[in-house]
Amino acid sequence: MELTQTLIDWYKHHARLFPWRMKNVHPYVVLVSETMLQQTQTSRVAEKLPLFLEVFPTIHDLANASNGTMLRQWQGMGYNSRALRLRDAAKAIVNVHKGVIPSDPDLLRRLPGIGPYTSAAIACFAFNKRVVVLDVNIRRVYSRLVARQTTTADVVDDDTLGAFAESIIPLRRSSLWHHAVMDLGATICTAHNPKCDACPLSSMCPSAFVMQNITRTKPQEPMFRGQPQRIWRGRIVEALRGVQAGRYITISALRKHILGEHSETEARWLEDMIDALVRAGHVTRSGQKARLAD
Ligand code: SF4
Repeated sequence: MELTQTLIDWYKHHARLFPWRMKNVHPYVVLVSETMLQQTQTSRVAEKLPLFLEVFPTIHDLANASNGTMLRQWQGMGYNSRALRLRDAAKAIVNVHKGVIPSDPDLLRRLPGIGPYTSAAIACFAFNKRVVVLDVNIRRVYSRLVARQTTTADVVDDDTLGAFAESIIPLRRSSLWHHAVMDLGATICTAHNPKCDACPLSSMCPSAFVMQNITRTKPQEPMFRGQPQRIWRGRIVEALRGVQAGRYITISALRKHILGEHSETEARWLEDMIDALVRAGHVTRSGQKARLAD
C-alpha cells in the first residue's frame, strides 16, 4: 500500500531513537518502558530506564522488590501506583508464566496494571505481532487519515480507527509501522498546528491543510491550593523517600515540610492524603508517624 510504504520510508530517516527501540529489544525492557511511558514523557523515560534496569536487570529481580524499593527506584516518574502494579505484573509473570512474558495480548491483559493499550504495545513492540495499537498520537493520525476532519480536536471512534488500522498495518512490520505512526503524530501531525507542508502523507490525507486549530479544555482534576492533588501525593512520597529506609518521620514534621503555614482544614486534608497513600500501599503509618512502605 502506498501510504504504508511512504510512511515507513519517512520513518527510516526521521525515527526518534530511544533505548526501548533497539533491534531485538528484550520483552522485559518493553514491559518496563511501556509502563513508564503510560504517564511520563519520553525524554524522562529515556533517562530513567537504564538506571532502573541496572537495579532490576531481570523480571525475577523486579518480582522480588518490596514496595519501598519500588517507590524509591520510581523517583522522578510520578504516578507511583504504576511502580507497584509493574512489580505485581512481574510477580504474576514469574508465578503463572514461569518468568516468560506472554506474547498474546489477551494473556497480557490479565496481568496487574496492563490495560488494552499496554497489552497491544507489548505484543507489537516486543513480539512484532500484527495487533492494533492506539495511543493518543496514533488515534490522532488515523483520525485525520481515515476521514476529513474539520478541526484539530476531532477524533474518530475506536471501532472506525480499529477497522482502518486493520486495513493498513503491514504484515511482519507491525512494530516498525507503529513506531512510524507514533513519530509522525509526535513531530508532524501534532495536536495543534500540524505541519501538513512537511508531512510525507499530505497528498493522501483528506484532512491536509483544512483543519481549524482549536483546543478542547480537559476535565478538571481534584485540586488543592491550585494544584492537582496527585502532585501533592507525589510530594508526600518524595518527602518520605528522603527519610532513611525503615525510619519514621512524625506527621507534624511531614505536615510542616509539605504545607508550610497551614490551617486546621488543610492539616485534616493532609491526613486524608496520607491515609489514602497507606491504603494504596505507598506509606506505612504508626500513630502520628509515617514512613515509606516496606
Ligand atoms: S497531512 Fe496534515 S493532517 Fe494529514 S497526516 Fe499529515 S500532518 Fe496530519
